[in-house]
Amino acid sequence: MYLVLLGPPGAGKGTQAKRLAKNVGLPHISTGDILRENVKSGTELGQQAKGIMDQGGLVPDGLVAKMLAERFNNPDIKKGFILDGYPRTLAQAKTLDEILGKKSLAVDLVVYLDTSDEVIIKRLSGRLVCSKCGANFHITNMPPKVSGVCDSCRGSLYQRTDDNEITVRKRLEVYKQEVASLIEYYDQAKKLRRLDADLEAGIVLEQIKKLMH
Ligand code: AMP
Repeated sequence: MYLVLLGPPGAGKGTQAKRLAKNVGLPHISTGDILRENVKSGTELGQQAKGIMDQGGLVPDGLVAKMLAERFNNPDIKKGFILDGYPRTLAQAKTLDEILGKKSLAVDLVVYLDTSDEVIIKRLSGRLVCSKCGANFHITNMPPKVSGVCDSCRGSLYQRTDDNEITVRKRLEVYKQEVASLIEYYDQAKKLRRLDADLEAGIVLEQIKKLMH
């Protein structure tokens, strides 16, 4: 199953993708995570992307497409993937079809995690991320058992630099400019399913699993 999770920043794409990946045994591919790894290790791509990411803008299409095509060369995607953070524009959706098409693969299902602005701001302003395994927590909604420490791998938790109010607003604005055409594209292809992602994470996870069957 080649699944794309679509939705605004804070919709829970990362949280759901990580849980699903464990549940169904498919790789979780997050363009944001790969970019952050590049920033952390100081690669040329990371240096080009850092300033843009800190301001909530989109990293140029060519750079992200190349990065993704390289990731898709990993044989772990043979049975499918859970893609999170890509595509973000209509052009990226078409690029995704092209990259997969060259491998005789195609997106099977796109789940749109519909989320209200109010919930997004609350989720992102309290989000904590594990520096080691990338697991997500929330200061009040999903607190770790021990403050500042990841439940799964004991790594230390941090707040993403782009999870501040000014950058979140910019990310939302960028998202809203692009999402309508993406929804239309996948709707026409009869691949889009919508879910209310304001609901609690466990409920949303069960609903995504149902859609996958
Ligand atoms: P995310 O972890 O998905 O919230 O992404 C964090 C940041 O990485 C975004 O605000 C963008 O700057 C960048 N990014 C992630 N995915 C993409 C993409 N598909 N196209 C362009 N920029 C991206």
